[in-house]
Amino acid sequence: MQKQLKEGYQTFKSIFIGMAITLRHLFQPSVTIQYPDVRVELPPGVRSKLYVNIDDCIGCLLCARACPVNCIDIETVKATSDVDLGKTSTGNPKRLWVTQFDIDMSKCMYCDLCVYPCPTNCIYMVPEYEYSEFDRKNLIFEFSNLSPEKVTEVKDKLEKENEEKNRQKELAQQKKDQEKKDQETDTDTDAGKAGE
Ligand code: SF4
Ligand code: SF4
Repeated sequence: MQKQLKEGYQTFKSIFIGMAITLRHLFQPSVTIQYPDVRVELPPGVRSKLYVNIDDCIGCLLCARACPVNCIDIETVKATSDVDLGKTSTGNPKRLWVTQFDIDMSKCMYCDLCVYPCPTNCIYMVPEYEYSEFDRKNLIFEFSNLSPEKVTEVKDKLEKENEEKNRQKELAQQKKDQEKKDQETDTDTDAGKAGE
């Protein structure tokens, strides 16, 4: 009997505590918001999506090397000597075409480690969080603004320039070898004459 009374007391006590909490919250302002009609203000420095201002990227790869999960994929091509790519807004000279700059946000862990080493401050988080996708592939964001034709063009141009440089180098070496040979022949002839 004593046990049943104790259990009954405990039951009523817990109901009373639960109802008291409900009553307390009943008269407080609601904390839920009517998303997406209403949106919460994001705190400063929020990390939700990476953005790259590609015009300021010098293709140094510092961000990609700093990424612990390798979700930044960059490919660069050296600009040929007849091309001036100009400078970034921070005054850094641009010497490389950034032919590929992909960030796989499905792998990103929002650590911000890629942001700090950037010498031109062109990679940073933006307060954008509504980019969910059904297909993970759609979470790879491409920032290079070069068309495939342009990429092929700059690669071909660099290849030709390198071939020409190598040809010039070979010619210079051949010329040097020939001069050395001629010099040795002259020395032998002089020595022969002196011996007569
Ligand atoms: S935030 Fe971190 S995980 Fe994401 S790309 Fe940058 S370094 Fe990589
Ligand atoms: S660190 Fe900055 S400049 Fe260098 S490749 Fe990354 S985004 Fe471009």
